[in-house]
Amino acid sequence: MNSRSDAPVGPGAPSAAAGPDAMAFHSGSCCKCGGTDGLICISEFGKALCPRCYPEFVRRRMEATVRRFRMIPKGCRVAVAISGGGDSGALLDMLARTRGRLNYTLTAVHLNMGLGPYSDDCLEVCREQARKCTVSLELELAKDYGVTVSPVGQWRTCAVCGAVRRALLPRVAQRIRADVICVGHTLDDQLMFMLKNVLSGHPESPAPLLPARPGYPAKAKPLIQIPEQATKRYAELVGLPVMREPCPHFRDEAHRLKEVFDHLERLAPMGKLQFFHTMRTVMRPERDDTATEGPCEVCGAQTRMRVCPICRLKEAQQQ
Ligand SMILES: [Zn+2]
Ligand SMILES: [Zn+2]
Repeated sequence: MNSRSDAPVGPGAPSAAAGPDAMAFHSGSCCKCGGTDGLICISEFGKALCPRCYPEFVRRRMEATVRRFRMIPKGCRVAVAISGGGDSGALLDMLARTRGRLNYTLTAVHLNMGLGPYSDDCLEVCREQARKCTVSLELELAKDYGVTVSPVGQWRTCAVCGAVRRALLPRVAQRIRADVICVGHTLDDQLMFMLKNVLSGHPESPAPLLPARPGYPAKAKPLIQIPEQATKRYAELVGLPVMREPCPHFRDEAHRLKEVFDHLERLAPMGKLQFFHTMRTVMRPERDDTATEGPCEVCGAQTRMRVCPICRLKEAQQQ
C-alpha cells in the first residue's frame, strides 16, 4: 500500500506541499457535527472539531493506527505503560474506551523510579488515571531490582532512568503475561527519533510495532500519528488527571529537535504528518539485531550484551 494514499488526510484538506497559503482549512465549524462552539483547530489534523466530537475523533485516529500497523491482535492481553504524564494517560484512556470494539484486555503498568517526592506524585496520578479508566494498575519498583536511578560514571540521571525503564518494561510485561506493551510515543517523538537517526548517520525509521521475540512481548506505539498538542487537549477534555510538573531531571535540550517540526508545521500545515509518511518510505526499516540476543550471564534476562544493563548498573553502583 502506498503510504501517501493511506495517510489520514481527509478530502479537501490542504497538503503540506501547498505551503502556508493553504492554512485556511475550514475552521468555521466542526467537521463532524457542524457546530461552532469552542472549536479546536489542530493544524496537524487539518480539521476543526467541537469539544463534543473531538475525543472520539482522536480515538478513531488511534484506532486506525492500531489497525493499520496490526498492533493488537484480537483477544490479546495489552499492557499500557503510564508515567503520570498526559501522553501515556491519554493513551490509557483511549485504549480503555476501545477495548470492547477492538477486543483485548487491558492492564496499566507504572515503573516507579524512586526519585523522591516526584516519583510519589507520579504514582498517585497513575493510580487516579487507572481508577478513572477502570483499569488495574501493576507497579514495578526500580529499587526491587537493586538499582537506584542516579548518575553513574558518564551516565546522567536521565540516561540511567531510560536504560532502567527499557530493561524493566519487558520484565513486567512478561510477569503479567502481556502480549503487547503499548507506549505513549507521539508523532512528535517519532519525528524527533527519525531526525536524530538521520543526524547521526543511521537513516533508520523507528518501527511503529516491534514484534514479540524471546524475552520480549511486542511493543506498539498507537499514538505515532497524533501530535502532542492533540493528546494534551484530549486529556483535558476527558478530565484525566495528569502530572503538571516535568521531572526535576528532565533536560529540555534532549527534546529541542522537536522545535524543528513545530516550525515546519507553522510554515506548512500538516507538514509533520506528511514528513512522517514520506520519511517512512525513504528511510530504511529499523535494523533487526535481535539475533545477537541471549541470556544475561548474571540474571538470565534477554540482552544483546554479555551482562544486561540492570546487572551492569547494579555492579557499578555497588563499587
Ligand atoms: Zn462537533
Ligand atoms: Zn542481568
